[in-house]
Amino acid sequence: MSMLYYCIFARMNSADVAKVRELLSKYNNIIIVPHKNPDGDAIGSALGLFHFLKALGKSSQIIVPNDYPKFLKWIPGNETILNFERQNSQSIEFLEKADLIFTLDFNQLSRTGQMEQVLESSQVPFIMIDHHQQPDDYAIVTYSDVNMSSTCEMVYNVIEAFGEHASITPEIATCLYAGILTDTGSFKFSSTTSRTHRVVAELIDKGAQNMQIHQQIFDTNSPARLHLLGIALSNLVILQEYRTAYITLSQKELDQNSFSKGDTEGFVNYGLTLEGIVFAAIFIENQEEGIIKISFRSVGDFSVNEFARNHFDGGGHTNAAGGRSTNAMTVTVERFTSLLNEYQSQLQS
Ligand code: 5GP
Ligand code: MN
Repeated sequence: MSMLYYCIFARMNSADVAKVRELLSKYNNIIIVPHKNPDGDAIGSALGLFHFLKALGKSSQIIVPNDYPKFLKWIPGNETILNFERQNSQSIEFLEKADLIFTLDFNQLSRTGQMEQVLESSQVPFIMIDHHQQPDDYAIVTYSDVNMSSTCEMVYNVIEAFGEHASITPEIATCLYAGILTDTGSFKFSSTTSRTHRVVAELIDKGAQNMQIHQQIFDTNSPARLHLLGIALSNLVILQEYRTAYITLSQKELDQNSFSKGDTEGFVNYGLTLEGIVFAAIFIENQEEGIIKISFRSVGDFSVNEFARNHFDGGGHTNAAGGRSTNAMTVTVERFTSLLNEYQSQLQS
């Protein structure tokens, strides 16, 4: 049954494939937009699609809402990406000329932060490729599948649906491998299927240098980042009765360890490495934005997507979601811990 299941869900439907083909044959000013604070899957899928479109003879421009971590800045094509925040007028010029917009790895325009307004007022067709829950209805083609490990795996499916398997270059393979790797927690999360492994095997055959990609993403730590990890781990609070663990990092702690973007990536997962813990959170103060940025992770049935949507203005997947709070750290953490009571039966099951 499982093969059939994945075959049905893995593929893009033929009407959508035909529509994307038609749009691509009609339009030439193509923009690709990933979500704000782009992660490996957002950058990998955007660049994978960018290289694929190039293989089809189509040029495109990636515009990211804001900056992303250094450990992603080696991915092939990285130098072509425009940053909406830093290269604002150039980005707006491209968006004004656009006749087709791909949105990758998100499903609500509000996930593009400062770009939301421009995208919201755009009259051109959108194509969404995404694996998060509860997609909004803004695209002419919505390729949405919450069973997918990553948007990169979905871009692979698009390439396959186009019958363009032979066009997968080492660049495309590298981009897609990087995004699948990061979004599956190195092929560990429950969204990792046998199909994911088959796709990844194909990408290696097509030229993705798997060992190098792992090293460039995971083994380029700075001493400051490791010190910050030490502080995060010493701040870890374990609430055994709720099978929950959380970490806080204040702006002061970040500043004292020369925080740069991406340094806290993955810290939240340490909570889940504790035996018996099923729910982990990290609260990171961002004084500039006046918010506490929160990441939630779970194992099993407890939906952090629902939790983040209902209480912390966020969302994501069943086992990985994000959100924010405009309250101070202490107030935010108090609210979080008092909410746990409501969920005690779910957390214990
Ligand atoms: P992270 O905790 O790493 O920022 O995000 C975990 C997952 O939740 C990612 O798939 C990310 O795209 C999604 N996510 C993070 N923040 C938000 C948010 O504010 N809203 C929604 N809908 N999804 C989010
Ligand atoms: Mn993703």
